[in-house]
Amino acid sequence: MRKLASIRRIDAIRPIPGADAIECAQVGGWTVVVKKNEFAPGDLAVYCEIDSWIPNSLAPFLSRGQPPREYDGIPGERLRSVRLRGQLSQGLLLPLDPTCNAIVSELFEGLDVSVPLGIVKWEAPIPAQLAGEVRGAFPGFIPKTDQERVQNLSAELADWRQRQLCWEVTEKLDGSSMTVYYRDGEVGVCSRNLELRDTESNTLWQVAHREGIVSCLLDLRFNVAVQGELIGEGIQGNPYRLRGQSFRVFDVYLIDQGRYMLPQERQDWCELNELQTVPVLMHTLTDTGTTVEGLLVSAEGASELNERAEREGLVFKCMSENLSFKAISNRFLLKGGN
Ligand code: AMP
Ligand code: MN
Repeated sequence: MRKLASIRRIDAIRPIPGADAIECAQVGGWTVVVKKNEFAPGDLAVYCEIDSWIPNSLAPFLSRGQPPREYDGIPGERLRSVRLRGQLSQGLLLPLDPTCNAIVSELFEGLDVSVPLGIVKWEAPIPAQLAGEVRGAFPGFIPKTDQERVQNLSAELADWRQRQLCWEVTEKLDGSSMTVYYRDGEVGVCSRNLELRDTESNTLWQVAHREGIVSCLLDLRFNVAVQGELIGEGIQGNPYRLRGQSFRVFDVYLIDQGRYMLPQERQDWCELNELQTVPVLMHTLTDTGTTVEGLLVSAEGASELNERAEREGLVFKCMSENLSFKAISNRFLLKGGN
């Protein structure tokens, strides 16, 4: 599980040229603009990631004197990427005292404080034809499709540099997560968090039928979950300007073995079964030159699906073991992308 808000140590404080009242705090791979002299290097503080929904009571200043917005019944604000005095700032840093004063457990570096602080993940609202009618919870026998952000992986990256791992680099598509599975004679279709009923008005089921995914899995008769991104008209503003919708596979999960196919295995399997995959851009090594900053720069660029669309970012999957992470383009975030 991803930690939205956790206790972290401040690695460094840096000045911002030309700014008197603010400076930068470095926390792992993240840079946050803070008030001058509020934090010192080595301090423990609460770091909240972008896309955290911060309750108004915790940080009323985020609403800048306006009435707070509301999400999931919680008055508060969403943390977005911003530029202050030319400096990229991502997330929010809060002092341990008083933020954590009401928390009874011991406070230590790495502690996830999202739940006690009432912080939840903001997610874009899902349009009605995608949401559909719910059949039940997301099946427990398939993992959900989350990816960790590279900014949280500074320590892991040091290890991967040493091991010189090889990675498949795919474009991260800006659509909606969709899973189609076959298990013991039955096919199911799920959105990011729910399993959906097969109704005519539901876009996910429509696409699963139209693109032959349902019939493909019924023919194969083996327990598998195909996970991908649904993109196109009516989805996230259709940044690629596609006609209709399309399903692009990024993962294949072998239910009985309890494991994901490795990238090459997945590519071969998708080709054999004539399933479209997310764009594969290249293969790369993590070696002495690999840094969080470098990976973030490489995430910026045009989409493979439409050269006029800013791509959301890249997803890296290890060729030889089950490791993956995402690098979201800061250019995409600053242009207002989700
Ligand atoms: P996020 O939506 O930022 O939490 O990132 C994770 C999501 O990215 C996954 O749930 C997928 O729905 C989506 N995604 C889009 N493109 C890819 C890709 N190439 N590989 C893996 N996940 C992807
Ligand atoms: Mn997404």
